Amino acid sequence: MKAAVLSAPQEIAKRPLHMVEIPQPEAKPGHVLLRVRACGICRTDLHVVEGELPVRPEGIIPGHQIVGEVVAGATKEIPPGSRVGVSWLGGTDGACFYCQRGLENLCDSPTFTGYSVPGGYAQYALARADFIFPLPDALDDLHAAPLLCAGIIGFRSLRVAGVEPGERVGLFGFGASAHLAIAVLQAWKCEVYVSTRGESHRKLAYSMGATWVGSETEKPPVELDRAITFAPSGDVVIAALASLRKGGVVAINAIHLDRIPQFDYDRLLWGERQL
Ligand SMILES: [Zn+2]
Ligand SMILES: [Zn+2]
Repeated sequence: MKAAVLSAPQEIAKRPLHMVEIPQPEAKPGHVLLRVRACGICRTDLHVVEGELPVRPEGIIPGHQIVGEVVAGATKEIPPGSRVGVSWLGGTDGACFYCQRGLENLCDSPTFTGYSVPGGYAQYALARADFIFPLPDALDDLHAAPLLCAGIIGFRSLRVAGVEPGERVGLFGFGASAHLAIAVLQAWKCEVYVSTRGESHRKLAYSMGATWVGSETEKPPVELDRAITFAPSGDVVIAALASLRKGGVVAINAIHLDRIPQFDYDRLLWGERQL
């Protein structure tokens, strides 16, 4: 099969991914072999390819937003030809403190698709049968793929922030994840306040139905029930805290933050605000 393999990480402009011919993965117990129909590109793939995350096996195939079709390893629940999704969490140990409490996303020994095991920038990929998502027919391949990372983490942040239908929710930053989360918030009849940098992101937020749109650390005109920060900036986290009502929650959706600046407890956390 053809696959895009990372030989040695370097900046993307130097083209560190190479298209090579390698053997198709062999089916093994507990796994399904997928013919890849689409695979999204995530910022984390760039972190891997550029070496900002330490590379584990050499010659990894990145890509963790896979839409594939089952060609081997089918079961009664997942018949041959089923269209399924594969995400960043490729598997867990099922045995650690977190797995035993239904918190497998925090597993101590996880495997990551396209990072610790080969991913979807290839014609075929192997995935753990208990870590695939059946996809509804109404969702085409190209719209389904980004939901498998950007969509999952956006939705998870809404849950971590404890968003309830009809609430006032702030989104700080409006990239891949936030612009998928806003659709969920609208379905929940929430009022959405977006603070983001970049004219194009602000326009997109308006066009997707935001009630109010401001610049990166601009405070919305009302007190928020919940806020989610997507920008990799601690200043933005503080701006989000400063926008909360008493008892409100800020959830940080960022794999990396520059730092958290010192901030005033009495004004920003007192009153049962939560970070
Ligand atoms: Zn991702
Ligand atoms: Zn575990």
